[in-house]
Amino acid sequence: MVGTAHPTVNMEHQIKLLIATGNTGKAAEITAELAGVDDIQCLSLRDFPPVEECEETGTTFEENAILKAKYYAEKFKVLTLADDSGLEVDALNGEPGVYSARYAGTPCDDLANNAKLVQSLAGVPAEQRTARFRCVMAMVDSDGKLLGTACGKIEGRIIDEPRGQNGFGYDPHFFMDELGKTTAEISSAEKNKISHRGQATGAMRTLLEKLYREKKL
Ligand code: IMP
Repeated sequence: MVGTAHPTVNMEHQIKLLIATGNTGKAAEITAELAGVDDIQCLSLRDFPPVEECEETGTTFEENAILKAKYYAEKFKVLTLADDSGLEVDALNGEPGVYSARYAGTPCDDLANNAKLVQSLAGVPAEQRTARFRCVMAMVDSDGKLLGTACGKIEGRIIDEPRGQNGFGYDPHFFMDELGKTTAEISSAEKNKISHRGQATGAMRTLLEKLYREKKL
């Protein structure tokens, strides 16, 4: 079925889809957005035995999303969707990019990452602080074959002083001119409607519906 309305689920022939992210908030968000897609039943990594995390050795979001989707699809022999996302700052030549989570080192520390970001942009004027959040998702079948990718991005600029309590990561420093707010000052529901991840999930929903109609799942 196509369209934004969520159709009734026919439970007769359910297709399992693993949403392969260790972040439970993200998995819940993606699952909610995919709710009602034909006979798809979304599962999370918690529904499977624990395995070592996939190493993110790619140099692009797309490479990492595909790496992760293939890794878990091959481990668990199940249709799998994975994502990779991060912040690209133009004045820093696209950094932190795929290293967004570990910009200030491991383990991931949002406060340290934001402090490093603000420090790296010291002296850069407001109009040159353009940045974007980017997300790429990949879907792989139970044999490890890539079925498709989808991406999304939102544009903003980096401010020195954090604003807002919502969100995570770089949200308090990511100011969107059209909202007059940072992405930490809007609710998660508002953010999902416009976000890089929301856009990619919407495109994945369309792809799933198409593959289902074509009996390719
Ligand atoms: P991952 O896709 O979970 O690997 O996220 C990579 C990193 O990018 C996160 O740890 C955050 O630092 C950053 N990031 C990705 N999406 C967002 C967002 O929506 N808001 C703030 N930070 C984000």
